[in-house]
Amino acid sequence: MENEIYDVAIVGYGPTGQALAIFLGQKGYRVAVFERWHEVYPLPRAIHYDHEIARVLQAAGVAEQVAPILSPLPNAFYEWRNADRELLLQLDWNGTGPSGWPVANIFSQPELEQVLDAKARSFSTVEVNRGWEAIAAVQHDDSVSLTVRKGESPKPGEWTPTDETRTIRARYLVGADGANSIVRQWMGVTTTDLGFKYDWFVVDVKPHQEREWVPNAWQWCNCAGPTSGKNRGGSILSTIFSQTISMSSRNCAWASLSPATQLSAKAKHTPAARRRAEARCFRKLAPRKGLTALV
Ligand SMILES: Cc1cc2nc3c(=O)[nH]c(=O)nc-3n(C[C@H](O)[C@H](O)[C@H](O)COP(=O)(O)OP(=O)(O)OC[C@H]3O[C@@H](n4cnc5c(N)ncnc54)[C@H](O)[C@@H]3O)c2cc1C
Repeated sequence: MENEIYDVAIVGYGPTGQALAIFLGQKGYRVAVFERWHEVYPLPRAIHYDHEIARVLQAAGVAEQVAPILSPLPNAFYEWRNADRELLLQLDWNGTGPSGWPVANIFSQPELEQVLDAKARSFSTVEVNRGWEAIAAVQHDDSVSLTVRKGESPKPGEWTPTDETRTIRARYLVGADGANSIVRQWMGVTTTDLGFKYDWFVVDVKPHQEREWVPNAWQWCNCAGPTSGKNRGGSILSTIFSQTISMSSRNCAWASLSPATQLSAKAKHTPAARRRAEARCFRKLAPRKGLTALV
């Protein structure tokens, strides 16, 4: 389709670009997607979506393929606690939402992107070009020219541009290129920066022994180190830390894990749940012995 005009060119192939490629493919539109990374970006990010997104995935025709990658989340409560671990807010994540899908769906973003990628590629009119970075766009009366540059990834996470470029035309160009969208800049769309700046440190840990996390999801509103934690199906705890100190060292990662797991162990839903949680307290899952940091 090199010399044809595509109906839609999409820059970026995260969940947004993938979903759009699928919906356009379902309607038979000719689509060209350009994504910088050669492979699905491997690091975990999103782990929770709600019943409305489940419905979107149903419409995309991937509900069946998504089911095996979801982690069960029994007794799911999302809690906000203050520095003294007193309950501020509890959201009930159990049951089914108005869309007919579970209120809380726990997953790993790279796995979901694999499912969406396979679906998008199943449409003959959808062309997925990985390893290409969008570098320029020119608006015409009835179309857009998009120039992309090829890159190489000598190692995962590294991207080096080459001299090879390609220019295609499309009736529409869509920027699905994430938070720092270059397409948005080309369009002159402005954003308002409210000045919030905080370093975030994200780590997924895999306990060697399965354990129950109580609560399953929480925000610890502790000024000394605000912490967020999410349980992915009992076996993986995805924890997000915000700290003011240097976060570059492995030791810092282990030190940061301590308060989060203590919070889990001390949270009090029922006496039985508390006893179970305390029995598996953090000391049993001590750094380097009981936990494997995934990132
Ligand atoms: C730690 C963390 C936890 C999160 N938890 C949740 C959660 O629980 N639930 C939830 O709903 N969301 C969560 N999110 C947010 C979620 O990950 C993002 O909202 C989602 O990835 C956005 O998808 P997207 O497709 O819009 O953008 P992205 O995933 O950012 O994808 C954009 C793509 O565009 C590509 N790109 C950029 N520029 C170019 C270019 N010039 N040329 C070619 N390609 C380009 C990028 O390589 C990238 O692959 C979390 C995010 C983080 C970081």
